[in-house]
Amino acid sequence: MTSYSEYLNKIFPGVKVQKISVNAGFSCPNRDGSIGTGGCSYCRNDSFSPAYCMTRESVASQITKGKAFFSRKYPDMKYLAYFQSYTNTHGRDTALLEKLYREALDCDGIVGLVIGTRPDTLPGCVIDLLTELNREKPVFLEIGAESSFNETLKTINRHHSWEDVEDAVTRAAGSGIRCGLHLIAGLPGENRSHILQNVRKACSLPIETLKLHQLQILKDTPLYHQWKNGTIDVTPFSLDDYLRLCAEITEIVPDSIVIERFLAQSPPDMVAAPKWGLKNYQFTNLLNQIISKKKR
Ligand code: SF4
Repeated sequence: MTSYSEYLNKIFPGVKVQKISVNAGFSCPNRDGSIGTGGCSYCRNDSFSPAYCMTRESVASQITKGKAFFSRKYPDMKYLAYFQSYTNTHGRDTALLEKLYREALDCDGIVGLVIGTRPDTLPGCVIDLLTELNREKPVFLEIGAESSFNETLKTINRHHSWEDVEDAVTRAAGSGIRCGLHLIAGLPGENRSHILQNVRKACSLPIETLKLHQLQILKDTPLYHQWKNGTIDVTPFSLDDYLRLCAEITEIVPDSIVIERFLAQSPPDMVAAPKWGLKNYQFTNLLNQIISKKKR
């Protein structure tokens, strides 16, 4: 199994590369009414935006702050500007998108872009722009798929289909853009077998990376209220069950696809369940122990 850092090392030989999150002030088509309202039932966007990502600051200024944060430890580090918050290809004309992406690419030490978005927010003009930028510096797309089951996508109010995922990945990868998919394990109505099916279907697409994490029930989200009042079929994973599932997933993901992470770590005070209190490296150590035991 190739690690994400080994994957980056192949693309950027000899340099240590770190993502710096940027909040470029995008909104989300599933919140602003362009596609839907209310957002995905589990989403609390402030749970994944670092403190240095403030929209009132320019992209370049956020990158400077992010670099200052990381370069104390590794002065020679290079960076990927990570357009992470909300839907980072939405609601702007391509000229404005290009301005924001180029502002990041022009910063010292930035070696590429990572752009998080939805599968239904990648029209041809945006793919064309990303293709052009990708010729200058690598562009990585992180597309939120979450599930391969349209019924689940409907339950969690995603307002897109699995077919949208297939279409977006096929077009982007066909244009030479490196694609990664994001899946959530333990969505309402999904069991182990659904999750394995999600992983298999994701791996059948031309992707290079896969990000999977456990469903977190975050306070004050629609999902939290549905869970509290028992109107939804959702049981958060126990740590042991999730570790066993992840070990199984490592066996079905082909070597050509890198699993970037298995764990979501929202701020503990926002998480209602499951409360594992683990750092990513601690989870990875536990997972590696299970994988080695299985091999013996
Ligand atoms: S998860 Fe993404 S698409 Fe869904 S509401 Fe949050 S920002 Fe929007």
